[in-house]
Amino acid sequence: MLHEVAAGSLDANLDEVGYRSHCHRWHYRYFFGAMQGIDRSTREVIVAPLVEAGRELIGAHRIRFDYLAIAIGSVTNDFGTEGAAEHCLFLDDRVQADRFRSRLLNQCLRVSRALEENPAADACVRVVIIGAGATGIELAAELYNSAAALKHYGLEAFDASRLKVTIIEAGPRILPALPEKLADAAKAELEALGTRVLTGVRVTRVSEVAVHTHTGESIAADLRVWAAGVRGAPLLKDIGGLETTPSCQLVVRPTLQVTRDDRIFALGDCCSCLLPGATRPVPPRAQAAHQMATRVYDNLRRLMDDRALVNYVYRDYGSLVSLSRYSTVGSLMGNLIGGRMAIEGRLARYVYRSLYRLHLISIHGWLRGMALVLVGHVNRIVRPRLKLH
Ligand SMILES: Cc1cc2nc3c(=O)[nH]c(=O)nc-3n(C[C@H](O)[C@H](O)[C@H](O)COP(=O)(O)OP(=O)(O)OC[C@H]3O[C@@H](n4cnc5c(N)ncnc54)[C@H](O)[C@@H]3O)c2cc1C
Repeated sequence: MLHEVAAGSLDANLDEVGYRSHCHRWHYRYFFGAMQGIDRSTREVIVAPLVEAGRELIGAHRIRFDYLAIAIGSVTNDFGTEGAAEHCLFLDDRVQADRFRSRLLNQCLRVSRALEENPAADACVRVVIIGAGATGIELAAELYNSAAALKHYGLEAFDASRLKVTIIEAGPRILPALPEKLADAAKAELEALGTRVLTGVRVTRVSEVAVHTHTGESIAADLRVWAAGVRGAPLLKDIGGLETTPSCQLVVRPTLQVTRDDRIFALGDCCSCLLPGATRPVPPRAQAAHQMATRVYDNLRRLMDDRALVNYVYRDYGSLVSLSRYSTVGSLMGNLIGGRMAIEGRLARYVYRSLYRLHLISIHGWLRGMALVLVGHVNRIVRPRLKLH
């Protein structure tokens, strides 16, 4: 839901998990810090120094392990495109989503001020999103939702028609994970909101003010967001002498153990898992990460008890894409419904919201999870719809 944080429609402060209290409640130990290496000879994780305003508060230190599960997620892949790293915003984590929100708001303030001074001014906020997967599409719709609400938050001269979003996708269509009919419905919805959707167009260069494409077009942009695929974090490259793919993901066996060490597991976006009979690795999705966590937990217990490990099986339950309050589209898959079922509208919205509720329940348990769902409902009534600064 980082796209909602980026657009200001979700206040991450209210939804984040406080690991210090969570670990007390669920009986695990939590260390704050970033892994920077692994010493397999001594079985230690090397944690990077904690630095604040250039001052080292805690030096690099080591944490011993008997078994290790690596689940550090992924980073956005800009495929080495010229200028992308310098001039694009990414939505890899909360800090980046907050940065996007702050810049978006500043641009909206600029336009609002220009319109107050001259109502006939040709001022607008131009956002270019590169990548029309779920992240790019959900972000575009959420931006229109926020833009429509801004006039109730002091930006009286601003309205959604002042937001110009362009989505650029290199592939032949948007939302490749969804059936074509649903992707077309999502495209039609976005175009009705005012989005320009370009497919089959490759970005060749990004500058401080524009995005350049292989067709020779340069699209002026106040904000540029790169959301075109993910790769492993660079720090994983050959970490501890483990096998990694060219895109820095740890190669794992079907048991989710890394190829070169029985005691180390990798799961989620940071691993590359090619299952027997499959032609492509398991996709970097939340449902895959969740299922892998269950398999790693069981296999860890088996390893400790000297029992045979079980292979991971990926079950694709489908995908859902939220177009904010405008629509939700998706396809559900599973034995229960006998294949793939396309869903849209209220039902899709309900399932989309339920997934997040189930996530809260798995993290906090039934009682606390349900209480948080209730608090969420109350907050929607009593708190502002948008988080600005
Ligand atoms: C905007 C957005 C929208 C998405 N929408 C969907 C969706 O609708 N459906 C779907 O299935 N998937 C979606 N995804 C993908 C989904 O979020 C990931 O597949 C899933 O979160 C992967 O889980 P993970 O546990 O592997 O990694 P993450 O959830 O990314 O967790 C990794 C954690 O490791 C921490 N970390 C990173 N580096 C280090 C380090 N060196 N040391 C210590 N900790 C570290 C990070 O801070 C983070 O907390 C979306 C992703 C984004 C960015």
